[in-house]
Amino acid sequence: MMTTQEMRTEVIGFKRLKDGYWDYPDFKETYTLLTNGDGPLIDDFLLEDGYLFKAHKLCIPNTSLREFLVWELHAGGLAGHFGQSKTIAALENRFYWPTLKHDVGKLIKRCHTCQLAKQRKQNTGLYTPLPVPNCPWQDVSMDFVLGLPKTLRKHDYVCVVVDRFSKMAHFLPCSKTFDASWVAKLYFDEIVRLHVLPMTIVSDRDVKFTSYFWKTLWHKMGTKLQFSTAFHPQTDGQTEVVNISLGNLLRTLVGENLRD
Ligand SMILES: [Zn+2]
Repeated sequence: MMTTQEMRTEVIGFKRLKDGYWDYPDFKETYTLLTNGDGPLIDDFLLEDGYLFKAHKLCIPNTSLREFLVWELHAGGLAGHFGQSKTIAALENRFYWPTLKHDVGKLIKRCHTCQLAKQRKQNTGLYTPLPVPNCPWQDVSMDFVLGLPKTLRKHDYVCVVVDRFSKMAHFLPCSKTFDASWVAKLYFDEIVRLHVLPMTIVSDRDVKFTSYFWKTLWHKMGTKLQFSTAFHPQTDGQTEVVNISLGNLLRTLVGENLRD
C-alpha cells in the first residue's frame, strides 16, 4: 500500500504521464504514431495536448499511478469501499488501461477494510424466516453500533433503522445512557414523523427492551390501544450490511482524527 506522501507525489505525477507513454509498451506504439502525425485518430485513440485518450478516457501508463487511481476510487474520499464492479465502472468512466479490471480485482482482494466486512457477512446461523415486507417502513430492523468514540454532543453509539422494504436507512445518534424509552422517543421523532409506525421490528435487543420500546412508542401516539407488533429477536443481516457501510463511511470520513 502507498503512503500518503507517495500518493501526493503521484497526483502531481499526472504531468509526467506524457513521458510514461513513451516508456511503457502499452501505449508506446500508438503514442509514437500519433505524435508523428500519422492521423488524428488511431483505433479511437486520440492525442490531445500531449495526453493520450482512448474513446475520451485518459490513458494511464503502467506506473504506480494506476494503483493510486484504483485505491482512490475504491477507498478514497467518499468512495466507501464499493465492490469490484462498481469500482471498475467508476474508473472506466474516466480512465483507460488494458489491465484495469484485473488490477481492481487484485487491489480489492488486498483491501483490509473489505476483508473485515466480508468476514462479518459470513456470520450466518439458523434463523426463522422473516415476513416478506410489501410496503415501506412497516417492517424495519433496528440495530445498535456500539463502541464508537464519543462526539462533542456525548453521542457514542448509533441506532441503525433499516426499512426492510426499500432498504433505506436512518442513523440515529445515541448515547450509552439512553434506555428503551429514550430510543422510542428518538424513533418517534425521527422515523414515525417521516414515515409510519412499524408492524414488525427485527432487533438484536432483548424482549424487555423491545416491549418497553413498543409501549413508549404507542404512548407517544397518544393512544392506550396497543396493537401487537412482531418483534424478532434476531437480525436478518439487513442492518448488519448497512452497518458495514456505515462503518466504512465513518472510517473514510473521520480518518486519523477520531474527534472529528
Ligand atoms: Zn475496500
